[in-house]
Amino acid sequence: MNAPAPMLEIRGLTAGYGDATVLHDVSLSVPHGHAVALLGPNGAGKTTLLRVVSGLLAQRQGEVLLDGERITAAKPYQRARRGLCHIPEGHGIYPSLTVRENLVLHTWRKDERTAIARAVEHFPVLGQKLGRRAGELSGGQQQMLAVVRGYVADPRLVLVDEVSMGLAPNVVDQIFEFLNVIVRAGTSLLLVEQYVNRALEAADGVVILTKGTVVFDGAPSAIADDVFEHYLGSATVLR
Ligand code: ATP
Repeated sequence: MNAPAPMLEIRGLTAGYGDATVLHDVSLSVPHGHAVALLGPNGAGKTTLLRVVSGLLAQRQGEVLLDGERITAAKPYQRARRGLCHIPEGHGIYPSLTVRENLVLHTWRKDERTAIARAVEHFPVLGQKLGRRAGELSGGQQQMLAVVRGYVADPRLVLVDEVSMGLAPNVVDQIFEFLNVIVRAGTSLLLVEQYVNRALEAADGVVILTKGTVVFDGAPSAIADDVFEHYLGSATVLR
């Protein structure tokens, strides 16, 4: 019997902006229920790759498949309906809407009450702020709202970009614990993260991207010391 298609498969992806090519023939996959960390130096093309996967930026060459189906031509909202959730750097919430409105805006299948209950179960502090504008929350609470949105919408694949940027270590702990919970519940995760140690703890697989090219694809334990030092040596560590 054939192995099941991965939740996300990227084949030969080339993309960029204007005259600049940022991604060069990139291929990678995220198996069902796995967390894959996408690491690499600043400017490597990690955010660009997530933007192509969610349909915000068109690829020049290559294919993107979600659970075996080509989504290369699908618009962002169509990809979201198929179970893709992109949590962009800088929260991706609606600051002028209330916490409640932010939560229910992305519920395709669940009713609103269930969505709010699921969010509050994971981040009780949000339950005390349902009527507040999201922009009035602390940075950590805004990030909790951003990641929990993904959960209440019941996605199959979540793309997370620099989720811990600017947050206190205890908030980063809570966010990573939450990401572990959704992966254990069967969601697939592609994680771009500045704190390499946190990403490696959370991930089943690692892809290292440098200058738009994949230089490592394997298990965290398989990264050789010289590869780590060469490509991730200047990485930030958060204890
Ligand atoms: P970082 O960790 O710094 O966010 P990254 O690996 O996510 O880096 P990208 O943000 O994807 O890298 O950027 C890759 C390259 O594309 C960089 O050279 C960047 O300057 C360029 N770039 C990013 N966004 C745009 C844009 N909207 N227009 C033109 N060039 C861009």
